[in-house]
Amino acid sequence: DAMFKVGFLNDVYNERPLSDTVPKIRTRFPPEPNGYLHIGHSKAIAVNFGFARYHGGECILRFDDTNPEGEEERYYDAIRDIVAWLGFTPVRETHASDNFDRLYELSEELIRRDGAYGETAGGQRGGQRFSCSHRTRPIEESLAEFRAMRDGKYKAGEAALRMKQDISNPNPMLWDIFAWRIPEGDKQHLRASKYKMFPTYDMAHGLCDSIEGITHSLCTTEFELSRVSYEWLNEKLDVYRPMQREYGRLNITGTVLSKRKIIQLVKEGHVRDWDDPRLYTLIALRRRGVPPGAILAFVNDLGVTKAVTNVQVAKFEQTVRQYLETTVPRLMVVTEPLKVIIDDLPDGYEELVEVPFGKDDTFGTHTVPFTKTVYIERSDFREVDSPDYFRLAPGKTVGLLKAPYPITATSFEKDPATGIVSVVHAKYEKPAEGETAKRPKTFIHWVGESAKHNSPIRAEIRAFNSLFKSEDPSSHPGGFLKDINPDSEEIYKDAMIETGFEEIRRTAPWPKAAGEGDVESNQHCIRFQGMRIAYFAVDRESTPDKVILNRIVTLKDTQGK
Ligand code: ATP
Ligand code: MG
Ligand code: MG
Repeated sequence: DAMFKVGFLNDVYNERPLSDTVPKIRTRFPPEPNGYLHIGHSKAIAVNFGFARYHGGECILRFDDTNPEGEEERYYDAIRDIVAWLGFTPVRETHASDNFDRLYELSEELIRRDGAYGETAGGQRGGQRFSCSHRTRPIEESLAEFRAMRDGKYKAGEAALRMKQDISNPNPMLWDIFAWRIPEGDKQHLRASKYKMFPTYDMAHGLCDSIEGITHSLCTTEFELSRVSYEWLNEKLDVYRPMQREYGRLNITGTVLSKRKIIQLVKEGHVRDWDDPRLYTLIALRRRGVPPGAILAFVNDLGVTKAVTNVQVAKFEQTVRQYLETTVPRLMVVTEPLKVIIDDLPDGYEELVEVPFGKDDTFGTHTVPFTKTVYIERSDFREVDSPDYFRLAPGKTVGLLKAPYPITATSFEKDPATGIVSVVHAKYEKPAEGETAKRPKTFIHWVGESAKHNSPIRAEIRAFNSLFKSEDPSSHPGGFLKDINPDSEEIYKDAMIETGFEEIRRTAPWPKAAGEGDVESNQHCIRFQGMRIAYFAVDRESTPDKVILNRIVTLKDTQGK
């Protein structure tokens, strides 16, 4: 929770610390239920829930349902779910629409206090600095028009309620901004279907904060200019005044986060769905296997300031890699297997070797069968040796990780049809009595073949690369779809996993990182390091007979290999 101790959030706290008048800190996270949350939202979640938690307070999950356009039931569930996944528990759930009746009453009160007027000119637009003739209409007339608007006398664009603020102020958020409007189309509100008109964000947000007793309303800096109207409204109505403060958005470069663009990617089949692991929605990161603690660590490392933060995908992946390094077990996984027969071992030879699950044995150990036939990574073999090459080649000796002794390749066979190497023959370098064992320069990963031990376990691996070619897909002159990387996904259909996988599957979740707190929902995700290659997670499309692995991130040391 380092981010709460210093800087911006500490200043926010000091402006309104716990006291007799602020016995408890209460914040809110206010998503619109019109899409899936993305990585940027994780900052908003961490800031609002984290700030409250740090000071022993509480945070409300408020669905900002002031715009029925685009709202869907499934987004409510998804948002709830992802907040819990990140390890936060709202003290309660509310909806802006819970307060519509109260907002309506307060709006009449605002009219009575000469703080709003009914505009019935038609064709009005916000953000324009003109004094409409209705501004000075009698209060009774505004009240009547507002009620007529409520009762359905007007259609979209024919009437609105505007706040009566200060046209002469340089801040456009005081130019009589809209309070209620009638939306286009006839989409009904999911929860407040009796309402045909809706309060604007500006009308609803500050008042909902006030009604819910929010002490600190933390939002992103686009709302900085709105702070004046936020305060203006609560003052004008003489209601409880929460304190709005603004922090900078978190943007990730090299991807797109906008809902409209992701919809296009899904519709046109560039990605599987909203949770395709190449996307940066939170459901996509979850599916890919990124632990929630790594996302929080990322946000925490960036800290909270007023500045907008633009971070490269690579930086995010680096945090994920570091996080996984100490929190997940290790296994041997072969992505593109090549068969190696150790000719001098007897037929059916099997020896169980003990392998730790971790760097050391803090995760415990397990056994894997070392056998006459083993599979290695195709890329760990070369037909022709050279002095600067240290993995397997004819005449060269390599170690098999944790196996008793090294092997030396003696010959290889090719598939006559394809010309591709199909089998490598090797010699087992078990020293004779009194001799010392060879010390190979390199150790490679492998998987033994044993029907008895159900090894190897077959799997499909989905390895993800950047979905886009550039850092800024949206600025591509032909549109962001033209920037799509055609090789954003590589599939390895014949991958193999060692038998330790069964144990990991059985005994997940694995120990959590120190300080991970109540990030509970890790539990159903099975993650591990495939030694020498990458971190993997079991994809949700896996079945009991078919394992599908997502590559979460590569191991740094093998990148560009
Ligand atoms: P988007 O345009 O990306 O959908 P939004 O503001 O419309 O964002 P909301 O559902 O309103 O999305 O977001 C809920 C909360 O999350 C708001 O308080 C919003 O300010 C905050 N938020 C949204 N995007 C980011 C971001 N990139 N970084 C930090 N906070 C964000
Ligand atoms: Mg919004
Ligand atoms: Mg949105």
